[in-house]
Amino acid sequence: MDRNVTSYRVDASDRIVGASDSWDVFAVENKAPQLTREDVLGRQLWDFIDGSETRHVFRLMLSRARASLSVMKVPFRCDSPETRRFMEMEIRPLPDGSIDFVCTTRKTEARTPVAFIDPDVDRSNEWRTICSWCKRVKMPGGEWAELEEAVRRLDLFGSKKPPRMSHGICPDDLERAARELDAEEKAKGKAA
Ligand SMILES: [Zn+2]
Repeated sequence: MDRNVTSYRVDASDRIVGASDSWDVFAVENKAPQLTREDVLGRQLWDFIDGSETRHVFRLMLSRARASLSVMKVPFRCDSPETRRFMEMEIRPLPDGSIDFVCTTRKTEARTPVAFIDPDVDRSNEWRTICSWCKRVKMPGGEWAELEEAVRRLDLFGSKKPPRMSHGICPDDLERAARELDAEEKAKGKAA
């Protein structure tokens, strides 16, 4: 079992129909031990994707992947409170409408635990948006800051409870997704 690779498969109706052995290890490391392989099998992929914008972009990618039958690669971050995890997701469509997702950890960096993304901590009633892709946080001025910088600037290290999180997509990742979809479209045009 390769701990750096976690893969799963959805069928043509986005139901999770398979997951690799490394799934459970990954779930525990991400403080989501309740999401065992056994629990996620048979459920809709969309149950696990937070944020309507993120779901919208992801749906677009999946429908393009299915239509073109070509592989897409998407970099993303899957941080846990004490680790920055740089990952890449390969979206591999299959002719029957199912899709394999292969998520590879490219690099990890240890850091001082960030309570903001720890699911176990108590929350204040304040809300902050975090980008589902790069895990940057939207600041009061509208710019997007790396998690550590956001923690420092918003004084999330203080004794205050951290804010609640809502998931969104930052302009950089939205643009990247659009480019990826555009490239896909052009490749399809050439092949036709
Ligand atoms: Zn982002």
